Amino acid sequence: MAHDKNEPHAAPPKPSNFLRAIIERDIEAGTYAQRHFGGSPGDAAHHAAGPLDAARIRTRFPPEPNGYLHIGHAKSICLNFGLAQDYGGICHLRFDDTNPEKEEQEYVDAIIEAVRWLGFDWNVGGTEHLYFASNYFGFMHRAAVALIEGGLAYVDEQSAEDMRKHRGDFTTPGVDSPFRTRSVAENLARFEVMKSSALPDGAAVLRAKIDMASPNINLRDPALYRIKHALHHNTGNTWCIYPMYAYAHPIEDALEGITRSLCTLEFEDQRPWYDWLLEHLAGLGLLARPLPRQYEFGRLNLSYVITSKRKLRALVDEGHVQGWDDPRLPTLFGLRRRGYTPTSIRALADGSGASKTNIWLDYAVLDGCLRADLEGQAPRAMAVLDPLPLVLSNWAEVFGSDSHLEPCQAPVHAQRPELGQRHFGLSPQVWIERDDFAEVPVKGFFRLFPGNKVRLKYGMVVECTGCEKDADGRVTRVLATVIPHTKSGTAGADTVKVKGTITWVSAHDALAAAFNLYDRLFTQPQPEAGDRDFREVLNPLSKQVTAGYVEPGLSGAERESRYQFERHGYFVADRETHSAAAPVFNRITTLKDSWSA
Ligand code: ATP
Ligand code: MG
Repeated sequence: MAHDKNEPHAAPPKPSNFLRAIIERDIEAGTYAQRHFGGSPGDAAHHAAGPLDAARIRTRFPPEPNGYLHIGHAKSICLNFGLAQDYGGICHLRFDDTNPEKEEQEYVDAIIEAVRWLGFDWNVGGTEHLYFASNYFGFMHRAAVALIEGGLAYVDEQSAEDMRKHRGDFTTPGVDSPFRTRSVAENLARFEVMKSSALPDGAAVLRAKIDMASPNINLRDPALYRIKHALHHNTGNTWCIYPMYAYAHPIEDALEGITRSLCTLEFEDQRPWYDWLLEHLAGLGLLARPLPRQYEFGRLNLSYVITSKRKLRALVDEGHVQGWDDPRLPTLFGLRRRGYTPTSIRALADGSGASKTNIWLDYAVLDGCLRADLEGQAPRAMAVLDPLPLVLSNWAEVFGSDSHLEPCQAPVHAQRPELGQRHFGLSPQVWIERDDFAEVPVKGFFRLFPGNKVRLKYGMVVECTGCEKDADGRVTRVLATVIPHTKSGTAGADTVKVKGTITWVSAHDALAAAFNLYDRLFTQPQPEAGDRDFREVLNPLSKQVTAGYVEPGLSGAERESRYQFERHGYFVADRETHSAAAPVFNRITTLKDSWSA
């Protein structure tokens, strides 16, 4: 069958990677096929009472609600939700909110909004797979008690200093704590005291009893619980002991019936502990088998930005950018406000695959994804970003009056006739780009200079006759004559040959608009290379604001609508400040990459 080139292409099959290979192998072997799911997170008994899990795999995206998501998180979101989609599974959105101090509802709401905006959903068949780790505090406590009862955990009351000293390092084995041999009864009693608010922060920790001489430091009696007298955003002051991340995370996965727990490479050394903990809790009858398995993949880094939450916060707090959604930031809110589409971000994440090494992608790849998405769909329009008046001095002679308006039209999108035409008028006063005029042209300059003819795109051919300047020698107006019978789309259009075509808008119908011209936030691809302070390489020209004009047809532009401004690039109506009365457009990216060498 002949391929219709207007038909939308099916998404290309995603390239295989080590995670897909593992999942496919497990599905074939039926590794998780006999798994039960109790309809909600729960312990072994809860899941055993439920039916076979209809989801072939379960993954989760587990953000800590302590900041805004960034492009690196998008990688994890696309991987987890994407694999679930591709293999008949379900991906949970889980807030890893086990640390009371840094977490806030504001971030929870922002993360939900950002994941939705990227195009993912956790509602499957009417069930919202949106979970909070803090809802498992009760189980985590019960599991800790069971570990104590099993002789697998003890309350350590060494000073923090001693604990650090006794841990050893890569070359020195650790030393057993003097509290390590406490009886089960004493450990239970002391853990109860920890829980009862009687002890100050840091006075005691509950630790697993494994092996202080293990070559893997993560197995040297890792801490399970610490004392922290702090209000939690979800559980208030119910608890004054909180589980450590490394204890909580595997349990969260197991309670939710996760089959594959995907995390970034720095957790590789934690995997033996992940497995130790879940094996023992399953052995005690608390957690359902088969247990989740952890797999590590490389982080995604983008050149010319930084993605650590702490450093993003510094950029905001120190005023280098204007808030978390500043269009120069790689936060998902920043990228959204800048105008990047969810499709372009997903394409970047999916295109980067999953590998066992951290990857650096050039920022230009994101711009390429954006262009690929918008090229075929963004309506075209003319905009003048740095306006200079052009006066057509013979207009009344040619058209009988200076108030004559010559109607012009242009396709909304040259490859998509079904989108129709844009309409605007040509008058004797138009706005052109300042750099489209040169009093003395350099070699190869084909636009306006005295004696040269150019076409006003979709309009008529004009011949430049000179210019006017102010006292400082700055050009204030360009003068030209219009050549009759040369209107685009009419029989005479080709009678006068020109080498240059310029964009313009007419003074009588153009809309005044502000343009935020964004560029890279840093001048160096790796702002922190060689321990450099990223503040030293901030791009002073990362935001420039200009006042100009757009075509009259944009009077109805809604916030977040995207356009290709001919020859300037892709722009979006700002989602915070744009209005019909005062249009504001952000430049998403230019039409070509100007950064790669
Ligand atoms: P940050 O270092 O920016 O604070 P984080 O890893 O502490 O990020 P979390 O909220 O814990 O942030 O992350 C949620 C998930 O996103 C984790 O599974 C984490 O591994 C993953 N993730 C974070 N940054 C990246 C990245 N650059 N590339 C891929 N995955 C990432
Ligand atoms: Mg983290």
